[in-house]
Amino acid sequence: MIFDILTIFPELLDSPLQEGIIRRALLQKLIEVNIINVRSFATGPHSMTDDRPFGGGEGMVMKPEPLAEAVDSRKMKGGKNARVIFLSPQGKTYCQSLAQQLAAEDHLIMVCGRYEGVDERFVDQYVDNEISIGDFILTGGELGAMVMIDSITRLLPGVLGCKDSVEKDTFSRNLLKHAQYTRPRCFNKSEVPEVLLSGNHEHIEQYRFIDSVKRTLKKRPELFINETFSNSERKLLKTAGLLSSVEKAQQTGKN
Ligand code: SAM
Repeated sequence: MIFDILTIFPELLDSPLQEGIIRRALLQKLIEVNIINVRSFATGPHSMTDDRPFGGGEGMVMKPEPLAEAVDSRKMKGGKNARVIFLSPQGKTYCQSLAQQLAAEDHLIMVCGRYEGVDERFVDQYVDNEISIGDFILTGGELGAMVMIDSITRLLPGVLGCKDSVEKDTFSRNLLKHAQYTRPRCFNKSEVPEVLLSGNHEHIEQYRFIDSVKRTLKKRPELFINETFSNSERKLLKTAGLLSSVEKAQQTGKN
């Protein structure tokens, strides 16, 4: 997977790429990240990438030409079919299923806005998807692009050692992942649940499923709206006395 990040602050993106799983994925060539300085596509004596807004008002707006040139140059350098993403608070809200969809692409060109935003004509003519990382305003799109690169990379084949950790993550279904424990068995007088020490894998799986449902009910009950359970799962929920609470959460969400 190739990620091109178009930015006027390239240094901002250096250090997140130097650590942990992302660094390893880069070294193993499972991903390629190209940080493109949009300023190098600006023309004129001052290489301006922004200007005042037509119609007046606050702040500066990023000019369309340097961004367009930068996208064209990436498309010419092997990215003919690359998907162009504009990080924008006005875009579709980013989530795990969107990360999964984008992980199936070969090449993403991620455009990071600054100031008051980007000239709308660039967005209309060059952008395939506008994506927001949440209902808040950042000073620029760079951290959003890093959030996307991080979450997409860990979904790519070969990046994580254990396939299970992706498949059993929170949001891989519409459920939160069960609680996790490690040594010591007793911490501040609190013991690890006995079943996890039993070695009985079937019981452990059932316990974890129920814990996952309990946590979702407590923290994010609206997630149940889009979740379905198999017959055996429904039986487990019934035995644990949770089936009616889950159905109620599903019904409340639909109303
Ligand atoms: N004036 C704009 C508005 O009200 O919609 C906000 C501009 S913001 C200060 C500058 C840039 O940061 C945006 O063009 C975008 O690239 C990025 N940005 C800000 N918030 C974001 C978010 N929630 N998700 C993705 N990108 C964001």
